[in-house]
Amino acid sequence: MIIIMLGAPGTGKGTVAELLAKGLNIPTVSSGDIFRKAIQEKTELGKQVEEYLSRGELVPDELTIKVIEARLQEPDLKDGVILDGYPRTTAQAERLDKFLEENGKKIAMAVNLETPKEELIERIVNRRICSNSECKTIFNLKLNPPKQEGICDKCGGKLIQRKDDNEEVINNRLETYFKQTKPIIDFYEKKGILYTSEVSVKINKMGKDVANEILSKFGK
Ligand code: ADP
Ligand code: ZN
Repeated sequence: MIIIMLGAPGTGKGTVAELLAKGLNIPTVSSGDIFRKAIQEKTELGKQVEEYLSRGELVPDELTIKVIEARLQEPDLKDGVILDGYPRTTAQAERLDKFLEENGKKIAMAVNLETPKEELIERIVNRRICSNSECKTIFNLKLNPPKQEGICDKCGGKLIQRKDDNEEVINNRLETYFKQTKPIIDFYEKKGILYTSEVSVKINKMGKDVANEILSKFGK
């Protein structure tokens, strides 16, 4: 089964993706994680993408598509994948469709998470991530704090803040999202596979609630 995650930075795509992955027993692929790992490991790809991530701009389509298509062909994804952060432009969405069609596959659901803009920034600045690359559990100092400050509940790893989770870059990322990614919501709506859900403290609905809602749609 193939599920894609749409939504602005800070809506909780990563959190929902991980919960769906667990519930459906299929892996997640996060384009942002792939890029961050490459930067950390100082690979050729890392060098090529570092500037874009640090500015909160999208990595060019050609490069992103190449990286993700290569990943999608790996054997661990043969039964499905939760795609977190890809596609993010019309070109990527069209290309993904073509790629899946060539491989006899199609997207089961495009999950679109919506959160009021003022909550997004607040959520992103309070986000902390486990630095253990095998774990990467996401916490939020206000909404979902770790039991012990600075330490991952799950694996004991050190919690860190993403470099691009600062207010200046966040504004750029949000602007990039509204300009370049929002239009593809229509693309999936027209295909009849869009599932939109609001995530907000205002209605007391968090990522885990949305994940449960979706899992029940798949009979889980
Ligand atoms: P968020 O959704 O919180 O901004 P991600 O981890 O999904 O975070 O992405 C981090 C950064 O990685 C983006 O700001 C962008 O620079 C790059 N990136 C991730 N996915 C894509 C994509 N599909 N196309 C282009 N750039 C991407
Ligand atoms: Zn951890």
